[in-house]
Amino acid sequence: MSKRAFNFCAGPAALPTAVLERAQAEMLDWQGRGLSVMEMSHRSDEYVAIATQAEQDLRDLLGVPDNYRVLFLQGGASQQFAEIPLNLLPEGGVADYVETGIWSKKAIEEARRYGTINIAASAKSQDYFAIPAQSDWQLSANAAYVHYCSNETIGGLQFDWIPETADVPLVVDMSSDILSRPLDVSRFGLIYAGAQKNIGPSGLVVVIVREDLLGRARASCPTMLDYKISADNGSMYNTPATYSWYLSGLVFQWLKEQGGVETMERINRAKKDLLYKAIDSSDFYSNPVAPASRSWMNVPFRLADERLDKVFLAGAEERGLLNLKGHRSVGGMRASIYNAVGLDAVEALVAYMAEFEKERG
Ligand SMILES: *Cc1c(COP(=O)(O)O)cnc(C)c1O
Repeated sequence: MSKRAFNFCAGPAALPTAVLERAQAEMLDWQGRGLSVMEMSHRSDEYVAIATQAEQDLRDLLGVPDNYRVLFLQGGASQQFAEIPLNLLPEGGVADYVETGIWSKKAIEEARRYGTINIAASAKSQDYFAIPAQSDWQLSANAAYVHYCSNETIGGLQFDWIPETADVPLVVDMSSDILSRPLDVSRFGLIYAGAQKNIGPSGLVVVIVREDLLGRARASCPTMLDYKISADNGSMYNTPATYSWYLSGLVFQWLKEQGGVETMERINRAKKDLLYKAIDSSDFYSNPVAPASRSWMNVPFRLADERLDKVFLAGAEERGLLNLKGHRSVGGMRASIYNAVGLDAVEALVAYMAEFEKERG
């Protein structure tokens, strides 16, 4: 058995050991067929069965209603920043965006290439440390859709509620918190998530889109970015990211075995409670996010003396606590505690934090 460190990377992030072991066991000879999944035609019966099962398991986990299509696409979440307006924002139309941090800002910048973007609300006046209350939002009367990011992976703030947009389709970037707890998919027009945070390996973005939103792409939309073409072709208009799709399917099976997203919610709650409690009960560590807006998945924290950052990180690495360095734009530390990062990892981190504070604080 090789040694597995505790990996707090924001993305590509930790995957469940059991999933990697299964992939390893199936690597050379998938279920007696004498070849690896990477070497299969995406049109073969074997691969289509893998792909179909992965979609079904994801549908089961999130309770995706029948009038939604699930797409397994490439280009990451960032490509969706363009794909969404190309499909849903008519020429001359307006879309509402909520600005809560770096990822929603990127989505806004990209969407501006395709039409008028109204910033319905911004967390800027609160230094991006709190989600703006819906009562303060200025939604346009004629928006094609409303876009927000449910979990800002870098700033570490998260919606713990779903915005109300009546008949206007709600579009959400759930890259870093999909599958972390139960979700009412029917509240959304479109949900998208880059796989490499809480689903599987990079190279894949999952899109869950309500059927009535297909077939609206503008004429100039590239074929590869037209949701309807992807949906009509079972996400196989061209060769999909077959191995990432397969591995994500193994993660979905693992999630089901754990008890699904209800169990994940319970464990994720225990993890974030433990970590925030450790931060809040110390004068040495701090997190600037308003308590109601704190992320369950990405926990940024600072040391009272930033000259100790390097020493903290080196000591963490010695103990097998990896990738705790904060995003370059924010500094400090960040622990990403996605589904595949267990309570034992957070316990080890909290124990190290206490020890470090005692010695150097
Ligand atoms: C990582 C991330 C992205 C970008 O994902 P890519 O797949 O690298 O394009 C977008 N949004 C959020 C919330 C993310 O965490």
